[in-house]
Amino acid sequence: FSEDVAGKVVIITGASSGIGESLAYEYAKRGACLVLAARREKSLQEVAETARDLGSPDVVVVRADVSKVEDCRKVIDQTMNRFGRLDHLVNNAGITAFSMLEEVEDITSFREIMDTNFWGYVYMTRLAVPYLRNSRGRIVVLSSSASWLPLPRMSVYNASKAAISQFFETLGVEFGPDIGITLVTPGFVESELTQGKFYHAGERIIDQDMRDVQVSTTPILRAESAARSIVRGAIRGERYVTEPAWFRVTYLWR
Ligand code: NDP
Repeated sequence: FSEDVAGKVVIITGASSGIGESLAYEYAKRGACLVLAARREKSLQEVAETARDLGSPDVVVVRADVSKVEDCRKVIDQTMNRFGRLDHLVNNAGITAFSMLEEVEDITSFREIMDTNFWGYVYMTRLAVPYLRNSRGRIVVLSSSASWLPLPRMSVYNASKAAISQFFETLGVEFGPDIGITLVTPGFVESELTQGKFYHAGERIIDQDMRDVQVSTTPILRAESAARSIVRGAIRGERYVTEPAWFRVTYLWR
């Protein structure tokens, strides 16, 4: 069983760096047309150029903040205007913050994690569903092993990932065989997120502690390797795969 992606249309959110960027290259090498979305347009343009060089027949860049429903609509509209179809939606854009709960003064600042990691996925998915039904397409979901590990100083991030896993497990049942879901739950992967660059209250902050904790407790996978496993799993339509302990990928349904 294999769902070839050559000539098919793939949206990747959070494609300006890290796992999303590597996913763009993996899909490009397999000949997929790409719609790349994130907030940093210049980085997206650079990724698009490389993706074209690697074999993608057509790449569209959309500057979008997935926590805003009107931006999500823009991503879907531009996909339909350009390609008239959608085959894979890769929900990948994510942020985290790193603090003990009682260290946080402005408790509302945590909302932006949920707005991106949970609501961003919900908006993109709801808007994409009619087109994915037409193509009998697939949704690839970057959840995290943090959805079940109680990693300290990341309580809201962990909760956002648990929420998104349960959301898509439920959708897997709702969709039945019509739309496939590949739920990905990586361990630590080398990226801006794990290089200790985090958003907090709208600002990127650096936290060397986070980096030290990760390096001392777990091997870190390269984003390229993570992306290879993810795209391979999605194309095979695998529902559940357990890889070595540092990178457990769970595939659900179809
Ligand atoms: P990066 O920080 O490198 O990438 C995150 C991407 O999301 C960037 O392209 C960023 O682009 C984009 N992004 C963030 N907020 C928004 C937003 N509001 N709207 C649109 N795009 C946004 O981190 P990773 O590559 O590591 O993370 C990718 C996904 O993988 C995340 O969902 C993360 O939770 C998950 N994950 C990562 C793990 C790891 O160890 N690295 C482990 C498990 C899961 P821009 O700033 O341009 O908007």
